[in-house]
Amino acid sequence: MGAIVIGAGLSGLACALHLERAGVAVTLLDAGDAPGGNLRTKIVPVDGGRYVLDLGPNSFGDGSADLMDLVRACGADADLVPAAEAACETRYIFRNGRIVPVDPGPRLLLSPLLPIAARLRLMCEPFIGRSRADAPEETLAAFCDRRLGRMARLKLLTPVVSGIYAGDPEKLGAESAFPAMIALEREHGSLVRAAMKGHGPPGRGRLQTFEDGLAALPRRIADALGAAYRPRTNVTSLTRAADGWRVAVRSNGTDDAGDEVLTARDVIVATPAVAAARLLADTAPGLAADLAAIRYAPMVVVHVGVRREDAGAIPDAFGVLVPREEGLRILGAIFSSRLFADRAPQGHELVTIFTGGDLDPEAPSLPDDEILAYVLRDLRTALPGAWTPALTRITRWPLAIPQYVVGHKDRVARIEAAERAVPGLTLLGNWRGGIAMPNCAREGAAAAAKVAERAGV
Ligand SMILES: Cc1cc2nc3c(=O)[nH]c(=O)nc-3n(C[C@H](O)[C@H](O)[C@H](O)COP(=O)(O)OP(=O)(O)OC[C@H]3O[C@@H](n4cnc5c(N)ncnc54)[C@H](O)[C@@H]3O)c2cc1C
Repeated sequence: MGAIVIGAGLSGLACALHLERAGVAVTLLDAGDAPGGNLRTKIVPVDGGRYVLDLGPNSFGDGSADLMDLVRACGADADLVPAAEAACETRYIFRNGRIVPVDPGPRLLLSPLLPIAARLRLMCEPFIGRSRADAPEETLAAFCDRRLGRMARLKLLTPVVSGIYAGDPEKLGAESAFPAMIALEREHGSLVRAAMKGHGPPGRGRLQTFEDGLAALPRRIADALGAAYRPRTNVTSLTRAADGWRVAVRSNGTDDAGDEVLTARDVIVATPAVAAARLLADTAPGLAADLAAIRYAPMVVVHVGVRREDAGAIPDAFGVLVPREEGLRILGAIFSSRLFADRAPQGHELVTIFTGGDLDPEAPSLPDDEILAYVLRDLRTALPGAWTPALTRITRWPLAIPQYVVGHKDRVARIEAAERAVPGLTLLGNWRGGIAMPNCAREGAAAAAKVAERAGV
């Protein structure tokens, strides 16, 4: 009896591959047709070339040792495509009807991005006292207003947070969502002072994708796992027995055949929190209730392919973020064909637009033509041009990003305590330990190491 990993998103794939490499007999079950969970790529051939559309995540930084180990372990490193350096380093914000480059360094204080009063307020940051260590968790908005000022929040923080969490700073918990930032305040008393001493968020490294898009990574890992990976296999229930776990599975499309029951000493549940809650409702009801309470922000990703002469002036940059009160509906856009080579056919551009999120949760329920209409209208405003699309594709993500709201860190601590009380149970996924791909790779590796240790290999 080895281990069963449920869910072949990046978290589950990383865990399964590390278990296999450690010599643990592992089976990886996933309800979907293809491995990867959120990592999905659609390749659209057109005359004289192809568009490479990453429908979920679009890139990762090679500064993460865990993720790069995984890339190398499955041989995907041969297909890496690094981002164009100039594009990687330049980001824009939409302000007063045009896009303005953001300089995250001290020159921000001279940039027209912020009104003069907001820049003066930012300069006061080093003189603002730190919050008490035993104070209740602040919202991200309250933290930012206290340290940096409200205007800096609205003009800079809100769009950045939308870009990462698709979230609402008035709901996200400062420490739950950005623990490193709170640690800087506690240690140095000021974010500006910490930055001046060279402390800050760790560098992400150079952004990367793969020749055939991000889905190449899960495909490679699944290939390395061979028959241990079982797609189209929906786990319907989990039962704890004296000698381990009973895992009931049903192959998609064979409803009449009934459930097959697999056995395992360890189960690693690497599904979204809501699915994990359903599977654990009988075995650990308190834990399941905490999992079920984790909310996800919905998102819509829109790809627009366009002939270069129709695209307006797209700068060589990562993309543009849009503050809410600047009059556009989109959250932002990534200039995909400027960031990575060969994302669009010769003479074409590809732009990936994000909309929805916690501040616009109705967006995914709109019909395609309405979404497309405001996306094209906003593109024409931000990057003036005809924007007559050669290709469009809309992808809805009802459960895009788990929201690390105020109290999330305490909820996760409760879940962890309950998890320790259930023998042979490991929980994994982007609802804990961070939402980005490097976090999923790191947590997957750490979970595998613990399970391998328990198995005595
Ligand atoms: C639109 C979007 C853009 C993003 N952009 C980026 C980015 O650019 N960079 C970055 O680093 N991160 C990005 N992220 C975040 C990142 O993609 C995710 O955090 C990460 O991929 C989550 O992986 P996971 O394995 O935890 O979960 P998931 O990918 O959700 O995988 C869970 C898996 O569980 C399976 N499953 C569920 N229930 C069952 C069941 N009962 N039986 C069997 N299988 C089941 C599902 O089929 C799925 O494959 C983005 C996310 C989204 C949605």
